[in-house]
Amino acid sequence: MSRYIAGIGPLEPDLMIIGEAPGKHEHEQGIPFVGPSGEYLNDALRKAGQSRGACYITNVVKYRPPLNDFKQLHLIGVDLEQSIKELWANEIEKFRPKCILAIGNEALKAVTNYDGILNYRGSILTARDGVIKVVPTIHPAALFSHKTWSDDGEEDSSGGLEYTYLKLIEHDIARAVEESKTRTLSLPQREIVVARNSLDVYRFFTQYKDATAAASDIESINCIPVSTSFAYNRHHAISIPLLRQIGKHEITPMGYSELVECWRLIDKEYRRLGIIGQNFKYDEFKLGRCGFVIPYVKSDIIIKVRVVFPELPKKSLGMMTSLWTRQPFYKDEGKEFRLGKHPIEQLLKYNAMDSLVTKEIDEELELDLYELARVHKVPLVEYYYNYMMKKHKFYLKMENNGFRVDHARQRELSQKYTFMQDGSHSRLVGLIGHEINVASYPQVFQLLYKEMKFKMRKRAPTADDTIVALMGNYAKDKLKKEILTVLLEEKRIRTQRSRYINFKPDYDLRCKCSFNIISTETCRSSTSSLKKPLRPGKFGGIPFHTISKHGRLAKDIRSMFIPDEGTIFLQGDSSQAEARVVAILSEDWDLLAAFDKIDIHRRTAGLIMGMTKELNLQPGYIKIVDDMDKEDPARFCGKKTRHAGNYDMGSNRFMLEFNTDAQKFDIPISISSWKAGEMLKLFHAASPRIKGKFHTDIIDCLEYTRTLIDPFGGVRIFNGRMDDSTYKEGYANIPQRTVAHLVQGAALKIDEELNGDKAMMWISENHDSLLMQAPANNWEPYAKLIKQHMQTPIDFSTYCSLKRDIILTIPCDIEISDTNYAEMRKVKI
Ligand code: URA
Repeated sequence: MSRYIAGIGPLEPDLMIIGEAPGKHEHEQGIPFVGPSGEYLNDALRKAGQSRGACYITNVVKYRPPLNDFKQLHLIGVDLEQSIKELWANEIEKFRPKCILAIGNEALKAVTNYDGILNYRGSILTARDGVIKVVPTIHPAALFSHKTWSDDGEEDSSGGLEYTYLKLIEHDIARAVEESKTRTLSLPQREIVVARNSLDVYRFFTQYKDATAAASDIESINCIPVSTSFAYNRHHAISIPLLRQIGKHEITPMGYSELVECWRLIDKEYRRLGIIGQNFKYDEFKLGRCGFVIPYVKSDIIIKVRVVFPELPKKSLGMMTSLWTRQPFYKDEGKEFRLGKHPIEQLLKYNAMDSLVTKEIDEELELDLYELARVHKVPLVEYYYNYMMKKHKFYLKMENNGFRVDHARQRELSQKYTFMQDGSHSRLVGLIGHEINVASYPQVFQLLYKEMKFKMRKRAPTADDTIVALMGNYAKDKLKKEILTVLLEEKRIRTQRSRYINFKPDYDLRCKCSFNIISTETCRSSTSSLKKPLRPGKFGGIPFHTISKHGRLAKDIRSMFIPDEGTIFLQGDSSQAEARVVAILSEDWDLLAAFDKIDIHRRTAGLIMGMTKELNLQPGYIKIVDDMDKEDPARFCGKKTRHAGNYDMGSNRFMLEFNTDAQKFDIPISISSWKAGEMLKLFHAASPRIKGKFHTDIIDCLEYTRTLIDPFGGVRIFNGRMDDSTYKEGYANIPQRTVAHLVQGAALKIDEELNGDKAMMWISENHDSLLMQAPANNWEPYAKLIKQHMQTPIDFSTYCSLKRDIILTIPCDIEISDTNYAEMRKVKI
């Protein structure tokens, strides 16, 4: 039987809090927001300096919906529209609060004319009456169901939002509390000029002739830039059309000579100013195609926000606008624009608005940058302008180079992989006794769960990871194991053939990818393929980071890449970089000393595979392990176990990664979760300082400060729940950031020293290595430069959260090849 849960609180509240409907706890106690959502709410109100008792708290619907589902309200005889009418008549209009905090999308829809809580959260809106202010926020219940790993290695996710969204909820609640202090609606005043002729542009630019920086943004239609905008401050911007028309649709009535004059003025301004952008690498590429030159990009707010708030869940302009400005959500105006359907003025104004908010966000982030630097005593301002921002130009330049491709080799490999795919397909059909399309979800599902009778997996039942888990943990007999192995093999060969072998080169026939500088909290870059419509084809190029170092496929892919005439490939590789940092953070000085004297992976393999009784890190020669071949499966076990142990990987995750990599690298082994757990136990028992010192210190640091600072002064604040998964992120944070900063910092310094040298060309940065093309007859000076900068000493005693009185120099190996990328060989420098 449902129970009426009335609103509660003073009758003339400044702040009215409206939720969606009572839940289980509210139903039991008869009061709104007393369960887990209520705890979050109370906590956020407390942080905002607001007492819960001074607020009026209610819900759109006063009864608990069956299964907490609004769609089932009719089952208990509740009419949503009627509930909303009553909410307005009996509560909002009677008590007339100064501000309403609307929690969840149902509350947003009930009190305003808006829909879409993820877009509108944090905005200062007006209610349906056009008067009362409303600040909506995400319902805290949206955080409850988040991704976890269950015991049997299956990912359990019911689609909850990342826990960092709690920070956003707190921000929105603080904003609602602030707004409830006055009835006045005060939103940013912005003046937008849409250029009608070149005189408008000239006057606007002249007005700001003394300014040295401006925010700029372009708007594109079908990837073609149609306008650009400039904002020198947060209040005043100009939007300038770049084209007269697209197809039959007019962009501006300006004649060609007027437009040419606008382009000339824009070009001059781009060359003169320091530009502030949002993801400006994208804009700069397109502007470059139009012939504009932008020598100095001063600041990019998606890079700046990574420095200030690395965990921000979405780095969209809309999200940043909600946090660092008072501008209500406006991004739909641009997204919903359709040429020919909406007036072009709408798009041009939207373009200028993007520059205005970019300028404002940049200024606000600057304050945060200084504050963070002051609080943590780190040179964060220099870190941002002299390091992070320099990556912008470097990666833009590098990603336009790419590899030269041996197209004959590509054709040859395409045939080879078609043949291989046919081979494993025939083997699979032979084993299961009928035809199968391995790309078909229903057919693979039928095979795994109906014919082979595996227990149903809830998530992604036919995904590669799931098949690896079935193979590791449940495929007991030889035939089942073989079927899964061949199934995976055929699936993989298909993907390899289409993504890696049959990739589409760029228009200049080179293989390229796009580098993302801010995709990870650990400052590692990531790569992705180049997509239509900017580039040709579905898989334009190959994401370089996904090309592995070992195995047949790696060799094949690499063999397609050849140096340009008269050049060679030259690579600097930071030797066992992350593992050395882990040794330092563990204060394991024996281990640190061992890196340059013995092959640690062979010695670890000795222990894991039972060849030696203990982990022997002493110099000298232990025949039984030191004779092991570099490609020996046992050495692979040693290497993978050390990596997993360093970051406290669980046995299921380890089993999945181990088996996946083994198959990728053509190493004929697979392990179960149990075996993975045993290997990790042996490893930790032999290396007690990893858990005992490194992990313990990280946990202490996170528990007490929620902050980790790397040796270069980069700060990461952890907002997540203090649980195992946050600790694990914490373990990886300093080692990965340290190596990323070392390698990327080296690239920037080398590039600066080479100062536009046309004889060399950057090709890739791969976490712990740098790849360039250098003149075949004069590569040694470049190799020396790479070695010198990759071996920059790293000081762990100044900024690093886990202070260690040591300066680490990581040796850099140099490799070259004058044939192709598969044939790199080490050279002494
Ligand atoms: N969720 C709501 O929307 N309201 C409550 O009262 C409790 C949880």
